Amino acid sequence: MSRTNVKGKWEQPVLVELPPAPRPELSSFDRIIINSSGGKDSQACLDVVVQAARAAGALDRVVVLHCDMGRMEWPGTLHLARRQAAAYDLPFFVRKRVGLELLEYIRSRVQKRWPDARNRFCTSDFKRGVGAKFITEQVAGLDLGRRPRVLYVMGMRGAESCARAAMTPFEVMARWTSRNREVWQWLPLHDWTTDQVWHRIRSAGTPVHPVYSYGLSRASCSLCVLASIPDLMRACQLVPDLAAEYTQAEVEMDHDFRFRLPIAEVIARAAAEPVQLPAISRCRPCRGAGERPGEITACPACHGTGGMAAYALAA
Ligand code: SF4
Repeated sequence: MSRTNVKGKWEQPVLVELPPAPRPELSSFDRIIINSSGGKDSQACLDVVVQAARAAGALDRVVVLHCDMGRMEWPGTLHLARRQAAAYDLPFFVRKRVGLELLEYIRSRVQKRWPDARNRFCTSDFKRGVGAKFITEQVAGLDLGRRPRVLYVMGMRGAESCARAAMTPFEVMARWTSRNREVWQWLPLHDWTTDQVWHRIRSAGTPVHPVYSYGLSRASCSLCVLASIPDLMRACQLVPDLAAEYTQAEVEMDHDFRFRLPIAEVIARAAAEPVQLPAISRCRPCRGAGERPGEITACPACHGTGGMAAYALAA
C-alpha cells in the first residue's frame, strides 16, 4: 500500500483498530464441549470457558473431551487432562479412534507416508473424526423438540502458525452441521500470547503438564510431525524407545519423518547435545518412588494419577 498522498508526500499510515472477535452467547447452546489435550492452551481454555459459562448460567452444559492418542501422547497426559477437568467438577470423557493406533495406522496406510502440514490425517482421523462422533453421541441424548446447538471449543491460538492465524475464532462448522444439529466452533484464545496463557494458568492453579518443565514448548504427541526441531530433539531424549520405533517405521516406509529430516538425524543431533534433565526423586502427592531422572513415565506408585503435581510450573 502506498504511503504517499496525491502530492507525493509521505503520510503516516492510518492504523485501523479491528473490532473484537465475536463471542458466542453461551446460554444459547445446549452442549458446550471443550476439547482438552492436557496441554497449556487447553488448560487456559478450560478456565476461560468455565468462567464465561458460569457467568452465563450455562456451566451445567459444559463437558470435556480428551481424544486419546495412546502411546503417541506423553505418558500421563490422560490422567492430567482428567485432573484438570476435575478441578472444575466438569464431566470428563475420553474417546479414541477405533482400530490401529497412530503409528500402526501410518505404517499401514496405502501410501505409507508420515502425515505433514498439508496432509494431517493424524489430526483429521484421530482428533477431528473422534470429536465429530462425540458430538453425535452427545446430541443423541437430547430431546428438545428442536435442532440442538453445540459449541465445540478448542485452545488453538493464531500465534502458533499461519494456518491457525487464518482461522475464524467463532464460526458455524458447516461440515458438522446437519438437519439434526447445529455445530459452532469457538477458539477463545485465538488472539492470546503465550505469556497470557501462562498467566491464566498460574491464576487458575490447575496442574501443569510435566513436559514444560523439560523445556518443551508444546505438549502434543511426543514426536509430533509439526514440532520444532528443539522440541523433537528433547522428545527423542525423553522417549527414546518410541523414537527408535519411529526410526524403524521410517526405514520400513522409505519416507522421512519430516521433509529432508529423518527422525534418525534428530536422534543423532539429540545425542550430540546432551541436556541436563531435572532430577525428580519423588511423586509429591503419593510420596511414591516417582520418576527416574531423564525419563517420563507414570509414577510406579500412583500410576501417574498424582505424579503430575510433582512438577511445579516453571516460574
Ligand atoms: S500432535 Fe502432531 S502428530 Fe499428533 S495429531 Fe497433532 S499434528 Fe499429528
